Amino acid sequence: MSIVGKILRRLVDDLGSLIYDDGCIICGRSMGGELGSICLKCRFEMPTTRYLYSSNNPVKEHFEMIAPIVEASSYLYFRTDDRWRKMIHRLKYQGEWRLGLTFGELYGAELKSSGLYNDVDLVVPVPLHVMKYLKRKYNQSEYIAEGIAKELGVKVDRRSLYRRRNNPSQTRQHASERWLNVSDLFAVRNPERLENRHILLVDDVLTTGATLSACIYALQRDVPTCRISIATLAVAGKFKE
Ligand SMILES: [Zn+2]
Repeated sequence: MSIVGKILRRLVDDLGSLIYDDGCIICGRSMGGELGSICLKCRFEMPTTRYLYSSNNPVKEHFEMIAPIVEASSYLYFRTDDRWRKMIHRLKYQGEWRLGLTFGELYGAELKSSGLYNDVDLVVPVPLHVMKYLKRKYNQSEYIAEGIAKELGVKVDRRSLYRRRNNPSQTRQHASERWLNVSDLFAVRNPERLENRHILLVDDVLTTGATLSACIYALQRDVPTCRISIATLAVAGKFKE
């Protein structure tokens, strides 16, 4: 989009938010004359990790042990703080997929400014199993991916990587059995579409890393020429510093 186009869009957005003041999408308080959809207080208090500005961060270090990835980061700490935990919950389970777009755009703008993700040429959301998709009606990671791709100026590929089956119950298995279980969880259809591409894999919350590891495994097995980076909206548990 041209600079004039961007300014015009910003003006329309700002005008819209002045006329239709729905309040801050995080805390709900009236925005008054503030611009955007998140109030200044919430913006200031947003629990960002800043992992995306460094090639040495806990998320990257974890996945590097599994595969030769290019970059990896998570945008927000998944804290017990009510507003932010609720935001992720609303995004995943309460139909508020627009939050995915909004936070995808915020994340994408920072990924762009970090400079480490500049040669990503395709954004791939972690797929939901079809049964889960039918139940929830949408995949929240697709909307995060849309927001990120828009800011990076690249496309989203929702079709190539797919989930063969739902996650098995993993509570009573040894780590090695778990790995066997997830190793054929995902596969790639039409792998030629991903050949030689730098793929940014996008997920909502990083908890154990098992799902993303299964995606990396499938991509490396089916498309050995692709390069892989990772972006998750939030990060929990052992990946926190
Ligand atoms: Zn707020």
